[in-house]
Amino acid sequence: MPTLRTRRIPHHTAALAHEHAWVSESRHRTTDGTVVYVRCTGCAARRVDLQQDSQLPSIGISRSIPRS
Ligand SMILES: [Zn+2]
Repeated sequence: MPTLRTRRIPHHTAALAHEHAWVSESRHRTTDGTVVYVRCTGCAARRVDLQQDSQLPSIGISRSIPRS
């Protein structure tokens, strides 16, 4: 029978895995919508979003890129 215990997350991983607080740095209109470059205020990770309709939330078109 499989166990339901989960592996303990090391502390340094838990510190990195926070909910990013994205702020837009710049935006550019394209034929597909508005491309928004966003940065996390907590860890300075970056991501590129595509906003196709101003009434809908933007879609992340890149994975978040951690600060090097
Ligand atoms: Zn972050």
